[in-house]
Amino acid sequence: MIVPEARRKWLAAAVPALLMLLVAPLALKRLGRLPQVTPATQAAAVLPTAAPAPAAAGPAGELPNIDAARAMQYVKEVVDFGPRPIGSEAHKRLEAYLVAHLKGATIEHDDFTAATPEGNFPIHNIVAKFSGTKPGVVIIATHYDTLMRVKGFVGANDGGSGTGLLLELAHHLRGAKRNGYSVWLVWLDGEEAIRQWSPTDSLYGSRHLAEKWQKDGSISQVKAFLLADMIGDADLNIDRDQNSTPWLEDLVYEAASKLGYQSHFFSRSLPVEDDHLPFAKASVPVADLIDFEYGYHNVFWHTTQDTLDKLSPKSLEITGDVMLETVRLLDQK
Ligand SMILES: [Zn+2]
Repeated sequence: MIVPEARRKWLAAAVPALLMLLVAPLALKRLGRLPQVTPATQAAAVLPTAAPAPAAAGPAGELPNIDAARAMQYVKEVVDFGPRPIGSEAHKRLEAYLVAHLKGATIEHDDFTAATPEGNFPIHNIVAKFSGTKPGVVIIATHYDTLMRVKGFVGANDGGSGTGLLLELAHHLRGAKRNGYSVWLVWLDGEEAIRQWSPTDSLYGSRHLAEKWQKDGSISQVKAFLLADMIGDADLNIDRDQNSTPWLEDLVYEAASKLGYQSHFFSRSLPVEDDHLPFAKASVPVADLIDFEYGYHNVFWHTTQDTLDKLSPKSLEITGDVMLETVRLLDQK
């Protein structure tokens, strides 16, 4: 993913000078949003209805709770493959590993050849479908390729964290048919730019899949697209993305607040270019859950320092639980 160059320069140069100017309006903004999502207000909103319906998914409306240690173990196993850029042997082994871990789900493969500035590369999007009782689909996506142009880049957070988290989410979706929308887990490929980020050199997998689903009509079933990218940072601060759909971002914040995780969400707002954009263009509501402050001034991003020691199982748990709770809130809409 990337934020526009101007914005990044602006952040680096102007943050110290504008900190005081920024803090006050942001604080006011947060205060302004709080009444919509505090538990007290939710309770008040529920009271007038005679018999609040139980949650549409999960026994007795229990809040989701993924296995943080198992999620972290998956991330470790993914990172152990080493650098996983498109076209590499490690990438092929990771594809086989992902598919092997998705037994019991209906798998859709979206395989094609992408023309990049460095030549043609095979791209493989992997979709695992878990059916629900309600017509419609919620997508939970991530990317599993890693950056090619930085030698020795293992992408523990950028590529690894989301890939491992979605494997953990598969445990919570397989087995019984879920009482709500179908959920499709999507491991997107070819997210990273091969030479330099541009509309044509980036998002190879997501652009292809969005187009494929527009052609075959699948896109009309998709009620929401949730993206996890760089969500393993031990110091987890998920940004509010200005390119995401505001009402869906609000719903993510509501889910985070229900779980007591709201302090990890949306203290900063910025526009993010990531795998959600091709789906947004296709009129799908989208929310990118991304922490683009990976180390002070994002110093670990796209460097060989993006390693497992920077990550925390708790951050995977927070993101995973919030995503599952967001799906449940969507079920009830
Ligand atoms: Zn990246």
